[in-house]
Amino acid sequence: MRRTKAFIPTSKEAPSDASLASHIFLARAGFISQSAAGLYNYLPLAKRVIKKIENIVNEEMTKVGAQELELSFVTPAELWEKSGRIEKFGKELLRFRDRKENLFVLGPTHEEMMVDLVRNRITSYKNLPLNLYQIKTKFRDEARPRFGLMRGREFIMKDGYSFHSSEEDLDREFEAMEVAYKKILTRLGLDYRVVEADSGAIGGSGSKELMVIADSGEDTIAICSKCEYGANIEAAVRGERKEIPEAPEAEFNKFATPDVKSIEELASFFKIDPFYTVKCVAKRVIYEEESEIVLFFLRGCDNLQEVKALNAAGGLEIEDVSQEELTALGLVPGFMGPLDQDKAKHVIDPTLKGAKNMICGANEQDYHFVGVDMSVISEVAYFSDISEVNAGDSCPKCDGELSFTKGIEVGHIFKLGTTYSKALKAEYLDENGKAQPFIMGTYGMGISRLVASVIEQHHDENGCIWTKATAPYMVNIMVSNIKDEAQMALGEKLYRELQDKNVEVIFDDRKERFGFKMKDAELIGFPYTVIIGKELANGNVQVYERVSTEKTVVNADEILSYMMDII
Ligand code: ATP
Ligand code: MG
Repeated sequence: MRRTKAFIPTSKEAPSDASLASHIFLARAGFISQSAAGLYNYLPLAKRVIKKIENIVNEEMTKVGAQELELSFVTPAELWEKSGRIEKFGKELLRFRDRKENLFVLGPTHEEMMVDLVRNRITSYKNLPLNLYQIKTKFRDEARPRFGLMRGREFIMKDGYSFHSSEEDLDREFEAMEVAYKKILTRLGLDYRVVEADSGAIGGSGSKELMVIADSGEDTIAICSKCEYGANIEAAVRGERKEIPEAPEAEFNKFATPDVKSIEELASFFKIDPFYTVKCVAKRVIYEEESEIVLFFLRGCDNLQEVKALNAAGGLEIEDVSQEELTALGLVPGFMGPLDQDKAKHVIDPTLKGAKNMICGANEQDYHFVGVDMSVISEVAYFSDISEVNAGDSCPKCDGELSFTKGIEVGHIFKLGTTYSKALKAEYLDENGKAQPFIMGTYGMGISRLVASVIEQHHDENGCIWTKATAPYMVNIMVSNIKDEAQMALGEKLYRELQDKNVEVIFDDRKERFGFKMKDAELIGFPYTVIIGKELANGNVQVYERVSTEKTVVNADEILSYMMDII
């Protein structure tokens, strides 16, 4: 590509809403342009990067026997009604009617469509397993589209779905997909971590996310200092607590605690560790048709993890509640406890199971119970892990310690089981001729988010630094002074030669100042720029490496073989 002919509208100005490096540089370097909130045009450079990522994904998918196909973007609403997701997805689904008044949804993901496709086409266990995928635009009417390609409304996703006749076979495929996804990210040159993820109400260990490590990531992940354990904070668990603080031993009693409401106040009032206090967090849980106030009890030293809490309550959403709402229910804010109180549903963290010497609210203004033995409620209580892990907690898998880091979710693999096949009555005949719902897995990867993730991990103050696997062009040939015949001649020659060797090369033949062209090259982030300048008179050119920002002097006669070696 000749730069004089290329459509690469670089700019000094970053979009006013851009805060992330990837957003700023991809826009400034002419990779993307916004058409409306969360909607982006991919310009030629971005298109090249996207194709590279897609090629790598296709290669790794082919190796594990997954087949590419393409489903329609416009999907019949009827399928979403059958699966019940028309409500679950809510406003994220963009719906519209055609001229015949039929309702449609722009595909935000394609489980329903894929199940419907396979249904009645694969009818025997003999044709299983099957793994089908596509790379396609998705639409989700995100409440807050932001950060450029990171969270768009329209974005590109690789979405795959597998069909099996046994759980064991799904487990095998799930592992194979994890391995393939790891290979893809390694090939792209990304530093990542596979973490356990929230599986929603379904539960189980069948949900993992692939996180690209970056401070700008929206996800917080807990990772172990010693072993491979990593989990999204929404799903992270911890090992047994090692150091147990000294217990405040006391007879069971009701104790006057005037105006002592918070955990801090309580701990300092009794001069005890918050470990021995019972924290109560009240939330309103929204279900499909109704909502209710649920009380979540955990140790005072812990915080409520809202996603865990939501899963425990089995709701769709969780909201804060006001003191007035609690009082109206007959609850006593600041003094709520798990004993003798049936005004609201309780969920209790398992760390409170059988806990002794506890102090909790007495459900009476200005009173707490002391010396509480939680075994008294163990029979009737509903226990579920609702606490958030803390940095420094012990690892659930080894004797290491947990710490937090930030990640960008670029992939998500999930064991779906029979949720969708049952809802859409998609069945095959097993060895005994009996109809069974397909056992399924789903495997997503954010292709356009990956473009942004590469830059989040690889940039400096001057712009993008593409990895070799993702670079839109590997080599940029820059002629310093296009009026200099010798410089131009060498530029042309090298351009031709590199093209003949199938190197992706761009030739900066613009009549611009050297400094300007150099800034542009840095902003765009080509891995190598061959600078053909004044030094050519002495038989030399320079090779600028973007990642190290170092310039190497190379003999002009040897430049082709030098470039072929380093790339
Ligand atoms: P998030 O938690 O970031 O909203 P998600 O869990 O809703 O994502 P999935 O349904 O698991 O996303 O989709 C699979 C992949 O698609 C994600 O891992 C992510 O890489 C990508 N993705 C999801 N939503 C977006 C978006 N709005 N913009 C760009 N990529 C996205
Ligand atoms: Mg996800």
